[in-house]
Amino acid sequence: MRRGAGLLAAIAALCWGLTGCAGGGAPPPSSVRPTVALRAFVVVDADFTRRFGDLRGPGRTAVNNWLWETERQMQTQVPVSLKLAGLGSWTLPAGALDGQRIFAKYVPQAWPTGTRANCLIALTGRKAVYWSGVSQWPRLFVKAQAAEPVNAKTVAMLCHEISHWFGAVDIVDAGFPERSVMNYKDARFGMVGGRVTWDQANRRRMLKAMATWGAR
Ligand SMILES: [Zn+2]
Repeated sequence: MRRGAGLLAAIAALCWGLTGCAGGGAPPPSSVRPTVALRAFVVVDADFTRRFGDLRGPGRTAVNNWLWETERQMQTQVPVSLKLAGLGSWTLPAGALDGQRIFAKYVPQAWPTGTRANCLIALTGRKAVYWSGVSQWPRLFVKAQAAEPVNAKTVAMLCHEISHWFGAVDIVDAGFPERSVMNYKDARFGMVGGRVTWDQANRRRMLKAMATWGAR
């Protein structure tokens, strides 16, 4: 509450210095929270296009749908937008199965110049990869989940890895009292009634990071 009040005061102060600020009552808090705008350049590997289709057709639709749904799920908890800034491919060498090593060695370090991207998401369709995702701003890696429903689980993984960008930490606790997409032991990936959920502590961490995100 205190942070929200401070922000309102800051905006009010800003308005004093500008002409044309609309008068009237204070806007509702949701409209003054800054939104962190993620513009992802997404790369997919050959296993991905084999499973989900060509990037000019069904493969592109799959990526778009996942990003859209990830944004929708995250927006229930934190002020973030997620847009597709570009689509490309990456190469995962035959036999590469360790997600950590894949992230370190093979996930592209940057996106093509000239795109408006500010982050990179690498997707693989290789089912045998044994680490579902790895993330370190401004890059992340997620394996499209083999088990059905592939959409829900892949979206949950995207939510999980994007949350790490904002300081969320892993939980490994089968007895954790809250449902959370950050808990590796959560049997349903934090899904409750079709909605991805976060535990309170991680949600607070993310909101705190997002409050100063524009400074980076
Ligand atoms: Zn994690």
